Amino acid sequence: MTDTSPSAEPLLKVDGLSRKFVLGSRKPFAEKRYLHAVDNVSFSIARGETLGLVGESGCGKTTTGRLVLRLIEPTGGSVSFRGEDVLAKSPQQLRRLRQDMQIIFQDPFGALNPRMTAGELIVEPMVIHNIGDSVSRESRLRKLLDLVGLTPAHASRFPHEFSGGQRQRLCIARAISLEPGFIVCDEAVSALDVSVQAQVLNLLQDLKHELGLTYLFISHDLGVVRHISERVAVMYLGQIVEMGPRAAIFESPSHPYTQALLNSVPSAAKGRRSFFTIPGDVPSAANPPSGCRFHTRCPIAQSICSTTAPPATRLGPGHTAACHFAAPFNAIPVGAPASA
Ligand code: SF4
Repeated sequence: MTDTSPSAEPLLKVDGLSRKFVLGSRKPFAEKRYLHAVDNVSFSIARGETLGLVGESGCGKTTTGRLVLRLIEPTGGSVSFRGEDVLAKSPQQLRRLRQDMQIIFQDPFGALNPRMTAGELIVEPMVIHNIGDSVSRESRLRKLLDLVGLTPAHASRFPHEFSGGQRQRLCIARAISLEPGFIVCDEAVSALDVSVQAQVLNLLQDLKHELGLTYLFISHDLGVVRHISERVAVMYLGQIVEMGPRAAIFESPSHPYTQALLNSVPSAAKGRRSFFTIPGDVPSAANPPSGCRFHTRCPIAQSICSTTAPPATRLGPGHTAACHFAAPFNAIPVGAPASA
């Protein structure tokens, strides 16, 4: 999908990003088969902005986050960070760039070495990148603990001595220890209890304002994405199907998949009888449906949908949807000047 975000000079610009994995075959000399985990994904994020990336499990959002950081190598497309070509960087240059591009993982326990204390874990990135000396690192450690709501007494504890929320605070302290400008939050609150989720989300918001951070916030949870994001991109089967400002996505969703996702959120007001589920399973990315990838599950699919991939249609400022029938009466083709 073409990116039509309003930012003139984004901090991060992703264009046509793709990643296909070769699938194993039991037959020798059989034709190679590929799994298209991420297919032609484009978006940009302005400095200080949070872009939420949402979709069902297995839609490619986590792979997208890792491709942006080159934790997985893309097979196509480009990634530009602060105007620099991330994919052209040598391993050494990439190591330096990673100081400014960090990630927070879903599972804080798995992300932390259980044999290291909290203090050692937070200081470790500074040691690896040879930043400061023991005195300055100690002082930075105290500041970081304070920033994430932990105390100096926590520095000598091991990860198993923390609660889930405290462990995620520890991961956040580690992620911001090198003063990055950009963080990929990959399902960063999904493993936490709901009450703790709110605390960690608020912490991420506070840090964003205090430290001028920019987030790519990946989550399957629409409520969480709505809470933290200024813009939202909706992913289905490796592609972005709708993207726009938070209000446009949540108040006037235009792609049937976005509408179905929003309708499937449990709500006390809806009651059990009106609870909606998207029919069928997500098709395999190894053999995606022809035309529009959502046509096998779409409630309004027409014959064109199974033969022709829908182009991105601009529906408003920064709001696009890849659907033949998205708001057909007032849609503006992508590329035409925006009226507002
Ligand atoms: Fe549904 Fe067709 Fe739109 Fe795809 S292009 S979302 S199948 S109506």
